[in-house]
Amino acid sequence: MTEKELDAVTTQNIDPSISAFENALKQFDAAAKVLNLTPDQIAVIKAPRRVMEVQLPVRMDDGSIHVFTGYRVQHNTTRGPAKGGVRFHQGVNLDEVKALAFWMTYKCAVVNVPFGGGKGGVICDPSKISKGELERLARRYFAEMVDMFGPDRDVPAPDVGTNPQIMSWFMDTYSMHYREYLPAVVTGKPLELGGSEGRTEATAQGIVHTIREAASHLKIDLKRSTVAVQGFGNVGSYSAKILHNEGCKVVAISDVSGAYYNEGGIDIPAVFNYMKGRRLLEGVDKGLKLQKMKNAMELLELPVDILVPAALENQITSKNAGRIKAKMIAEGANGPVTFDADKILDEKRIFTIPDILCNSGGVTVSYLEWVQNRMGYYWSNERIQEDLSRLMKDAFKAVLDTSLQYKVSMRVAAFVVAIQRVTRVAEMRGLYA
Ligand code: GLU
Repeated sequence: MTEKELDAVTTQNIDPSISAFENALKQFDAAAKVLNLTPDQIAVIKAPRRVMEVQLPVRMDDGSIHVFTGYRVQHNTTRGPAKGGVRFHQGVNLDEVKALAFWMTYKCAVVNVPFGGGKGGVICDPSKISKGELERLARRYFAEMVDMFGPDRDVPAPDVGTNPQIMSWFMDTYSMHYREYLPAVVTGKPLELGGSEGRTEATAQGIVHTIREAASHLKIDLKRSTVAVQGFGNVGSYSAKILHNEGCKVVAISDVSGAYYNEGGIDIPAVFNYMKGRRLLEGVDKGLKLQKMKNAMELLELPVDILVPAALENQITSKNAGRIKAKMIAEGANGPVTFDADKILDEKRIFTIPDILCNSGGVTVSYLEWVQNRMGYYWSNERIQEDLSRLMKDAFKAVLDTSLQYKVSMRVAAFVVAIQRVTRVAEMRGLYA
């Protein structure tokens, strides 16, 4: 695939007229109504507290200077330091970063880890810059906002387009600046540098915990279920792998190169083998006898039991929601379903595990990593898996119980649980000055 074609697929279907942040605020309003929040209570926790935009001049390999734009939004720090990833993607914009920071506040509250919410982003295509350029960009991003970050202020992590190597550069930039070893300033680091066991697969593992709980509630037998996964980055690929190991039949996968299908089930370990040394699924259809779908978006409309959108936001909109046939949607991505689409899915009685619950396994193990960094003692994978499983199950139960109690969707229920937790602490703390 040429670079131009790749650009076209990467940017397709992200409708610029849909504001992720507006969607997020509508989700908030729906839950605030159920809770009868007062205008004061709403004003204190709804809007982002700090919004930072920076220009980042970086020396490119050819000697020229390219000025990148970066953001960091701290949505809320009531329950703890701001927490959330940094996204490196050509589609990053402030509206998106604000929405993602907002979702982090309520994600941390729903899974009950003691963090607030934040998110960062840099407008760039990491696949088109060299490793050296990427390192200089990452360091400049961290250095530019060095006083915003800190183990007790704001703790970044990986997101779309960033990885443990970039977290290492963030951590090193910060530690060199303060002349101390400060691994707790960022999570999602490599194991050797204070990372945690289980962090790489944590988001996917958490998704599968929630799918298991939902399947038992809906009386779906996972071993007989079919799955389609949109996106084959960290979240999508490990979700496909873990679901495959659980005995589910993964019939479709996709990435920016297209969607690939096999009614009889895809051999996911073989796909992982194929991916060694590659970035894209492109060509996987030939070796593994899969059918390449004409339009990658059709993956979302397959008649499967479980649909895992694990790519970007605004994928299921009022335009295609009516054609979704899955029994259950597990939101691996943040914000894959718009507010308008939610109404249509609810009418169709499709059970949606909302992003702030479904993909909270990543930040949960980030929390465990941060705790381990602070005590300098490291837990085994068994210990991590035990804690992750317990926290996810507790969160799922709190949301399901709330959904049944108030007769609202799982999304509204997740916000009800989370908003109550944030509001309670905000009121205990009161106002400074
Ligand atoms: N970027 C991930 C998310 O959206 C992880 C955030 C974190 O671990 O802080 O939840």
